Amino acid sequence: MSGHIFKQVFLVSMVFFLLCCTLFGVTAYTFTVKEYVEQLQAETDFAATCVETAGEDFLQQIPTPTTERLTWLSADGGVLYDTAFDPATIPVQAGEEEVQEALASGWGESRRYAEEQNSVMQFMAVRLSDGTVVRLAARPYSVMTLLDNLFYPMLLALVLAVGLSVLVALWVSKGVTRPINAIDLTGQDERDVYPELRPLVRRINTQNRQIQYQVEELKTEHEKQDALRREFTANVTHELKTPLTSISGFAELMRDGVVKGEDVSRFGGKIYDESRRLITLVEDIIKLSRLDSRLNMPEKAPVDLTEVCEMVMSHLEHVARRKSVQLVFEGEPVTVLGVEPILYEMVYNLCDNAIKYNRPDGSVTLRLFREAQGCVLTVTDTGIGIPPEEQERIFERFYRVDKSHSKEVGGTGLGLSIVKHGALLHRATVRVDSTPGVGTTLTVSFPATAALE
Ligand code: ADP
Repeated sequence: MSGHIFKQVFLVSMVFFLLCCTLFGVTAYTFTVKEYVEQLQAETDFAATCVETAGEDFLQQIPTPTTERLTWLSADGGVLYDTAFDPATIPVQAGEEEVQEALASGWGESRRYAEEQNSVMQFMAVRLSDGTVVRLAARPYSVMTLLDNLFYPMLLALVLAVGLSVLVALWVSKGVTRPINAIDLTGQDERDVYPELRPLVRRINTQNRQIQYQVEELKTEHEKQDALRREFTANVTHELKTPLTSISGFAELMRDGVVKGEDVSRFGGKIYDESRRLITLVEDIIKLSRLDSRLNMPEKAPVDLTEVCEMVMSHLEHVARRKSVQLVFEGEPVTVLGVEPILYEMVYNLCDNAIKYNRPDGSVTLRLFREAQGCVLTVTDTGIGIPPEEQERIFERFYRVDKSHSKEVGGTGLGLSIVKHGALLHRATVRVDSTPGVGTTLTVSFPATAALE
C-alpha cells in the first residue's frame, strides 16, 4: 500500500512540476520574445538616427556584428552598404516585404528566409528623410534558443524536483500507512485512532466478535459431536455385547452338555437368531457410517421412486402377511435425482417400522405424489403410534420408544437414523405425525431440485 501511495504522490508531484515548467516556459518565452522585438526595434531606430546624422561614416565605424546585420538601401532598393556582405553581391531588395512597407509607411518588418544567411531572419526597416532605408536583420528568438538558455537551470530544477517528490512521497506514504499499521487487529479502542479510521476499526471489531462467536459455536458443535460419538460407541458396544453374551452363554451350555438332546435345536435356533440380530446390527452400523462419511457414495442419478416402493413392498410382503398387515400403494409415478440403494433403504426402513409397530389386521399405505415444492412420500400405518414427547427422539441412534419389547419386535434402533441421514443426502426433510393407538405417518419431502419430471 505504501508503495502504491508513494507512486501516486510521486507521479502527481512530477506532473505538477512538468505543468509548472510548461507554464513558466510559455510565460518566459512570450516575455523574452516581446523584449527581444522591442530591443530590435529600438536598435533599428537608433541605427537609422545614426545613419541619418553621420551617413556612411557611422556604418564604417561600427564593428561587424556576428548575430545582427545592418543594411542601408537606396530608395529603389539597391544596397548601398551592408555590415556583413559585399553590397555588389546582394541583389536589389525593393521587392522585400519590410522594404516595401518602410518605403510606403516609414516602418516595415518581416520574418522570412534570407538566402545570404541561409536561415530565417527577423527584418526591421526604417525609411530615412532622404528616402533611403536602414534595415536591421537578426536571428528570430525561437523556443530552441530559450531551451538552450534554460537547459542547465531546468536540469537542476528537475533533479531538485525529483528529489523533493521522492521525499514528499515517502513522507506522505509513511504518514498514511503508519496509523493503519498501528491498529491492533485483535481489539482496538476506536477512540484511540483518527476519526477517518474509525469505521475500519469498527468493522474489524465487529468481525472479531463474529469470528469469536463462530469459534465458540464450532467448539460447542465439536463438543456435541464428540459427545454423540462417545455415546454412539458406548451404545454400539452395548448393542453388540448383548447378542454376543447370549450366543456365548447358549454355546457354553451346549458345550458342557447341560442342554438335553431334544433342546439342542431350540438352543441352536436361539444362537442363530442372536447372530442374525448381530449381523443386522453390524450391517446397519456400516450403512450409517457410510452415510455419515459419504465415502464411496454412488453418483446421484434419476431413480423411479414408484419402482423402489414396489420393490420394497414385494420384499416385505411375507413379513406383512405374517403379521396380517395389508400393504397398499397409492399415487403417481415419481422420479427423483438420488442414490437408489439409499432410497431403497429409506423406504424399506419406513415400511418395516410401519409393519413392525402395527396391529393385527392393520394396514400400511405408501403414497407418492408431486407438489409445487417437489415430491412427497408418505408411509401411514394403523399401529401403536408414538407418544408426542417421544416423536422428537425417534431419529436418534439406538433410540427406541419401548425398550422392554425391543428384542421381541426386532430392529436395531438405527432404522430412522438411516432414514434421516438418507434424507439429508437428498436434501429432503422427514416429518412424523402420530397419534398413540391410532397410527403414524412418516413424510419424506424431496425438494424441487431433486424431483424430476
Ligand atoms: P427400530 O429398529 O427399533 O425400529 P428405528 O430407528 O427404526 O429403530 O425406530 C426408532 C423407534 O421409533 C422404534 O424403536 C419405535 O419405538 C419408534 N417407531 C418407529 N417407527 C414407528 C412406527 N411406524 N410406529 C410406531 N413407532 C415407531
